Amino acid sequence: MSVQYTREVDVLVLGGGIGGLQAAVDLADRDLHVLVVERDTSIGGRMIALSKVFPTLDCASCITTPKMAEAAHHDMIDILTYTELESVERADGSFRCQLRRKPRFVDEKDCIGCRLCEYACPILLPNEFEGGEGARKAIYIPHSNAYPQCALLDIDNCIYCGQCIKACPTDAVHFAQEAEEIEVRAGAVVLATGYELTPMEPVRRYGAGKLPNVISPLLMERLIAPHGPYGKVLRPSDGKIPDSIAYVQCAGSRDASMGVPYCSRVCCMYAIKQAILVSGALPLVDVTIYYMDIRAFGKGFETFYQEAKAMGIQFVCGKVASISEDAEHNPIIRVERKEEGGEVCEDTHDLVVLSQGMVPAWKPADKVAVSENSYGFIEVPEEKIAPTATKLDGVFVAGTAAGPKDIVDTIVEAGAAAAQASAYLESSGWLQKTAAKRSYRTPEAASTEVG
Ligand code: SF4
Ligand code: SF4
Repeated sequence: MSVQYTREVDVLVLGGGIGGLQAAVDLADRDLHVLVVERDTSIGGRMIALSKVFPTLDCASCITTPKMAEAAHHDMIDILTYTELESVERADGSFRCQLRRKPRFVDEKDCIGCRLCEYACPILLPNEFEGGEGARKAIYIPHSNAYPQCALLDIDNCIYCGQCIKACPTDAVHFAQEAEEIEVRAGAVVLATGYELTPMEPVRRYGAGKLPNVISPLLMERLIAPHGPYGKVLRPSDGKIPDSIAYVQCAGSRDASMGVPYCSRVCCMYAIKQAILVSGALPLVDVTIYYMDIRAFGKGFETFYQEAKAMGIQFVCGKVASISEDAEHNPIIRVERKEEGGEVCEDTHDLVVLSQGMVPAWKPADKVAVSENSYGFIEVPEEKIAPTATKLDGVFVAGTAAGPKDIVDTIVEAGAAAAQASAYLESSGWLQKTAAKRSYRTPEAASTEVG
């Protein structure tokens, strides 16, 4: 039977990526109690899996992990991972939020992150954090920077051999653990639910999911990350170091036939960043970027683009029509080259990266009464004067939940959402109403009080 408990916080932040964490820390620094709800097994979002950031080439995890630690150790922030938002309803001047905490089959209070269970488990499975490359066990800590450093048991792939139970020094593994229903009353809500890559599998002309050496940019991030699955760039079909790598721009953006007519804003720059990094890692590699036009609009972006050209990265103007492969699984790109008067050419490479765009990671649908824009992102009705306010008074949005944007813009917007939420708590009377009884309660304490 599931446990139900009720708690009260000033702001519920949905999403524990860089935007959600920034909003949470900004709110907590104003002495507001914040609950961060993350549906994944760890906070850190997409950014924790990136290698470096453009255009400065700073290490991505060196920026993300201090922010994760700041949120995790802040007295005014509580974090629930592996938890889904079921619904948000306005009630008595506040928001009643129903959450469902999924079972990890490991007790978070008891797990000390020693990984002895992981070493003992005999089951090997593809590692999702590494884009399906490398391996993980059926019980595992999601990655080395994960917070919490708590194991997760993948019950669907477990053979119930009991090795993990025998190995665990703290008796933290519980096959019978159940989901918990949690009710939270919050004065305001910040939605920072992030993005997914444009799904490419339905678009068969680019071979995604079909041709082994046509990969996603997030897999390439892991391949070039120093702590990635192999510590070097190897192509998936045969483990060969590629001599020739191509990027296909606007793969899933600016293409109405894919249902994504908008520009995703980050793909040109992340492709250039990856091209520079891979050229550094493999000095003999040829890198070609097939593009329609390069959108280098941000601070330092144009210089970054010119530096890439000066390094010898090839930029070919033309729309890629399709990708096939030869007998050795080398991808063959069919492209109409603009410089050559629209001549259709076929170029063979060892590895192709599809520069996929951004689509919303989470649809509010019937969970919360905010509206969506025509692309499915959370709508901001007065974008020019209130860029983080949704249709629902007291619910704010930050980062890529509202549309494609880069990390800098996400962080700026998260700060704005925190400021707006804080002002709303004041103007709505929430702070005055709750001043006497606001107290910080852990889920465990609250569950003994109520459940
Ligand atoms: Fe792995 Fe399942 Fe065996 Fe535990 S019981 S060691 S998770 S296969
Ligand atoms: Fe260690 Fe047990 Fe946690 Fe596995 S479940 S990491 S063995 S404490």
